[in-house]
Amino acid sequence: MSFNPVFAEMTEPYVEHQEFPDLVYPTSVTATLAAFRRAFPDAARLVPETDDGAAALTVHAPGYVEFVKEGAGRPEGATKFPLNVIAMPELRVSEPRTFEGRHIQYFFDEVTRATPAVCQGALHSAAASHQGARWLAGRGGDPAMVLVPCRPPGHHALPAIGGGLCLFANAAIAARELSRDGRVAVLDIDQDHGNGTQAAFYDDPSVLTVSIHAEGWPHVAGFAEETGGPAAPGANLNLPLPVGSGFAAYEAALATALSAIGRFAPKYLVLALGYDAHQEQGFGLLRLEVDDFAVLADRIAGLRLPTLVTTEGCYGYYDSTAVAATRFFDAWAERWR
Ligand SMILES: [Zn+2]
Repeated sequence: MSFNPVFAEMTEPYVEHQEFPDLVYPTSVTATLAAFRRAFPDAARLVPETDDGAAALTVHAPGYVEFVKEGAGRPEGATKFPLNVIAMPELRVSEPRTFEGRHIQYFFDEVTRATPAVCQGALHSAAASHQGARWLAGRGGDPAMVLVPCRPPGHHALPAIGGGLCLFANAAIAARELSRDGRVAVLDIDQDHGNGTQAAFYDDPSVLTVSIHAEGWPHVAGFAEETGGPAAPGANLNLPLPVGSGFAAYEAALATALSAIGRFAPKYLVLALGYDAHQEQGFGLLRLEVDDFAVLADRIAGLRLPTLVTTEGCYGYYDSTAVAATRFFDAWAERWR
């Protein structure tokens, strides 16, 4: 059985986050792309479609998409990023009248910054995710893999509000497009809860969302009892692990996740791939080692589903990023060979 791995490259290289250089690392994109190309040397490159915000609109609210487009067009340094205000509903009396005011309205934390580079990267990543999904759906269910190297990441972005360094929910954008052609499972193996992806499909029975993550952030979502809305009971599966868990606990959660996906019998898989579950990364909340990423890939590839991969967390220039990426894609290629 042959398969055709392809990647959807962003139209412009993502520029380092200006305000918090320690938090949004493009190295996870470059390392992932390099590892993917080594594992699949014949992989084709998809030409991304226009990044006019249309892809983001398939999941996100129009006002929020307009805000990100506005941010992409502002001169570098023009924004005085507001600190110390979170727009709780009780606080809001009037609609904000400035970009800074909308920044408070549209982000649920203070570390997420709509710099021009971040907004441009978000628009590119959303477009590439949409384009990758369309390519995969066009293959009609044949074994295939699309890598979408996304920066900024996406899995914390909700339909009408961003945060956790995420602006557009790239995995959700891909899943929404794929769900037009069949059932979709989203598996999130970033260290943190995929709260944005969960929110996009919480009441949608055509998409199963599964997240394996460390207990904690964002503290108001990610619990095991969040199992889907009234129209989609059982369509969300959270598998939170105690802080400090190693691969033994992770592997058990993965087995639960994969059997749930098997029972759901999706036509497509979207994989939200982060490296921050590695013990060197993600503040050490989980304790995976680089070789564990090979096991993860082997098990997930064993589903033999047409798969679209988005890149999520990685918050430092860690040696483990490139090694984990290499282990992951080599193992996937080996399994599908
Ligand atoms: Zn993360």
